[in-house]
Amino acid sequence: MPIPKQRHTSSRRDRRRSHHSLKELNLNVCPHCGKSVLPHTVCSNCGYYRGRQIFDVLAKLDKKQKKEKAKELANQTKETKENKPISLADLSKK
Ligand SMILES: [Zn+2]
Repeated sequence: MPIPKQRHTSSRRDRRRSHHSLKELNLNVCPHCGKSVLPHTVCSNCGYYRGRQIFDVLAKLDKKQKKEKAKELANQTKETKENKPISLADLSKK
């Protein structure tokens, strides 16, 4: 097994680790259901991207789960239609 030639100082070790911190996720709000989504990604909650349905969220669920999910989605889409979707201009003002 190789042996280090020289001891690294705590300063050198800490400088190396200065890049190890995690960055905060940059999340957008889904304009269809209002959940937070990664940018350029299909919403996993409602299956929509750029105003189109990409996949059916209810397809793989049981009958009971389907009913609950459909109800939940109906409520979410209602709420987002009542509240105007947040635009980039509004966000930059704050
Ligand atoms: Zn969504």
